[in-house]
Amino acid sequence: MTYLDKFNADCDLIGERMDAMQAEIDQLRGFALRLMESWPCGDLDGGELQDAAVAFGLLELRTPAPTEPCGENCGCAEYASAEEFSAGEVRCFTRAALLDGGKQWKRH
Ligand SMILES: [Zn+2]
Repeated sequence: MTYLDKFNADCDLIGERMDAMQAEIDQLRGFALRLMESWPCGDLDGGELQDAAVAFGLLELRTPAPTEPCGENCGCAEYASAEEFSAGEVRCFTRAALLDGGKQWKRH
């Protein structure tokens, strides 16, 4: 690989990372703008917060649906019934990579 090939490959990688960063910024800005719709006089509840987090990629629905509580600290353990678990009707959300620094940004 020539120096120019390496330079061009590095530029491509930088461009890909910048695109990924912009996508994350867009997601976070979208989430912030959705929440700010409640400012200064709104009333945001937990369901609206969760819906916005899902819409902008901060939370992800576990698939397949859990058939038992994910763990004692998971919200599904508290909110879902045994019947909902056995019917596969539990909607359990987990933190997306965006909340943990974004998986695109881990150095290889
Ligand atoms: Zn769960």
